[in-house]
Amino acid sequence: MPAGTEARSKVYLDMPVTYLKGVGPARAESLRRLGIITARDLLFHIPRRYEDASTISPIASLEPGMDGTIIGRVISKGIIPTRRGLRIFQAVLKDDSGMIEASWPGQPFLDRTIEKGDMMLLTGPVKFFHGRQLQPREYIHLGKDDQGVNGGRVLAVYPATEGLSFKVIRGVIDAHLDTLLPLLNEYLPADILSLADVPPLREAMRMVHRPVSIAEGNLGRSRLAFEELLFVHILHRRANALVREKRRGIAFENRRKLTSALKKALPFTLTNAQTGALREIVADMTSDRKMHRLLQGDVGSGKTIVALFAALLAMENGYQAAIMAPTELLAEQHARTIARLLAPLEIEPILVTASLSSAERKSAAVTLARAEPALVVGTHALIQEAAVFGKLGFVTIDEQHRFGVDQRAAIAAKGDSPDILLMSATPIPRSLALTLYGDLDVSTLDERPAGRQPISTVMRPESARERVLQFVARETEKGRQAYVVYPVIEESEKTDLKAATTMYEQLSAGPFAGRVVALIHGRVPADEREKIMRAFRDGKIDILVSTTVIEVGIDVANATVMLIEHPERFGLSQLHQLRGRVGRGAEASYCILLGDVGEEAAERLRIFTDTDDGFEIARADLRLRGMGNLFGQEQSGEATFRIADPIRDESLNLKARDSAELLLARDPELSSRENAGIRKIMGARYARALELFRVG
Ligand code: ADP
Ligand code: MG
Repeated sequence: MPAGTEARSKVYLDMPVTYLKGVGPARAESLRRLGIITARDLLFHIPRRYEDASTISPIASLEPGMDGTIIGRVISKGIIPTRRGLRIFQAVLKDDSGMIEASWPGQPFLDRTIEKGDMMLLTGPVKFFHGRQLQPREYIHLGKDDQGVNGGRVLAVYPATEGLSFKVIRGVIDAHLDTLLPLLNEYLPADILSLADVPPLREAMRMVHRPVSIAEGNLGRSRLAFEELLFVHILHRRANALVREKRRGIAFENRRKLTSALKKALPFTLTNAQTGALREIVADMTSDRKMHRLLQGDVGSGKTIVALFAALLAMENGYQAAIMAPTELLAEQHARTIARLLAPLEIEPILVTASLSSAERKSAAVTLARAEPALVVGTHALIQEAAVFGKLGFVTIDEQHRFGVDQRAAIAAKGDSPDILLMSATPIPRSLALTLYGDLDVSTLDERPAGRQPISTVMRPESARERVLQFVARETEKGRQAYVVYPVIEESEKTDLKAATTMYEQLSAGPFAGRVVALIHGRVPADEREKIMRAFRDGKIDILVSTTVIEVGIDVANATVMLIEHPERFGLSQLHQLRGRVGRGAEASYCILLGDVGEEAAERLRIFTDTDDGFEIARADLRLRGMGNLFGQEQSGEATFRIADPIRDESLNLKARDSAELLLARDPELSSRENAGIRKIMGARYARALELFRVG
């Protein structure tokens, strides 16, 4: 036993980290920011990746054209301005073999954190630029002493935070590992571990924190990733089982009255994908099981029509149907499209938003309170207390990721077990859908209606700026409209990014003088934002300068240009959403990515310019940047994975799904003694586990 009896009697896994030697109040506070409260959390804070000595090259051996990883000491440093106003941080690093210059364009703030004498680990391509130059893709600050990677040991690189370098974290974990490891007891059954082919907990933890090789570190990690995936599958399966047990839904009858009438009245025929999805939805709605389905499909794949058919099915059974959208503008847009499509059927949708006049609101409330068929389209206003539905049987939520779990539950609670259809324009691969939406059924529109104009997508360098802006101006002179998108609202010291506010001023004074230019971003109050978007929709604004707030499915047929600056700052799926804002009318449309980007970014962006397939783009995004970036801020709270990545760990994910099935088949409520450990750990980690299982 590495630890003395005395130490072990004091240390326990649920102990606050402040009690650990070497962790004072300041460090504890920084650790808290990383989600580390207890000694156990510290163990579960695992390295982001590993470097080992064999991957580190002597500086002298680096040649232009290769990709290198080095460790060196900073012997000089400084900020260099360029002609274009970009500021570059440069440092010269030295090891026993030689020296090399490293260069970070656009990151002058590094000058404040990197000091002369510091040891750094750098990885990146080596270029020739007045001599050899390394352009770090990644760097790790190793501090002042030079025991980065010694004697062939593997360097574990931990996620760090401001005021707490990965080195300090590594030191704290290393100092307590021998005391903490013996306290860990396995809670997964042996047959599950062997089915998944992952090491037991204590061994895995040792491998993760103190691997003898990178492969061993990754093997240890696989166990922890597996358990995360397993727990999420267990939660989903259990939730599903409970829903099936308790919640009977409405068994609609497929009367084919309104739905057939709509099919006849449509100016087009449904795609095969739409027909298929509709068949799945009708099967759900006509069974007495409650529908809880996600309809996912690329921008423009025609989700609204599918939802509309489902709504009519509810209505021909005497029920009310609701369509909820995240913004007033989208709700209005849906109401208008639907009114047009349903005009031959003499059905008029009721619009419910916060900006209705009190007379309008009253009239809508009276109609909805009656237990009569109606179709209502609205925003969050639909879930306000005052909104009462007489007979709500079907709900669809557009851009579902823009609503919180509570809001989705609130609209469902407006009826007596209505069928629910969620819609998402960010399609994801099946294995991820299984994990992320494990308690949903999924229908996918993987086909676009025929006859859509392709959008020409191009990348243009900084040197083409003037020509690009002239092109945009000319398009708007022809009567078209354009979007110009920036990654940030305001310029800041920390980056050299062009920002929406300053560029709005420059553009409207210079290249777009004489055109009507407007500015919109997240800090513009919501009602003002709606007003601007409305004016743009009505053609009163030629050019809209903005951040990604325009991302959501807004439909302006006359907009033909989407110009995006600093495209490297956006996820591919995000770019694809932005591109989906143009090409909605008959005119030829363009998506232009403007700016000089690094080689690696260019390669990533090429995936976007080369394909128009949202699935392919989402998959690439997941592969390259992980899950958090796919949905942006809103959804990330729901991504319960700290270690696993359902895409990269796909085969592990499938094993986790099978294991969850096996475990719950044996012990549906996890009430056996054998599963007491799982119950306890899940109860501590997931609030939902407390609702789904009797814990403790
Ligand atoms: P999204 O999936 O992005 O919400 P929409 O439902 O807004 O897509 O549909 C985009 C456009 O395509 C709409 O103008 C709609 O009327 C049209 N559309 C939908 N289905 C078809 C189809 N089968 N054939 C032709 N056009 C269609
Ligand atoms: Mg839509």
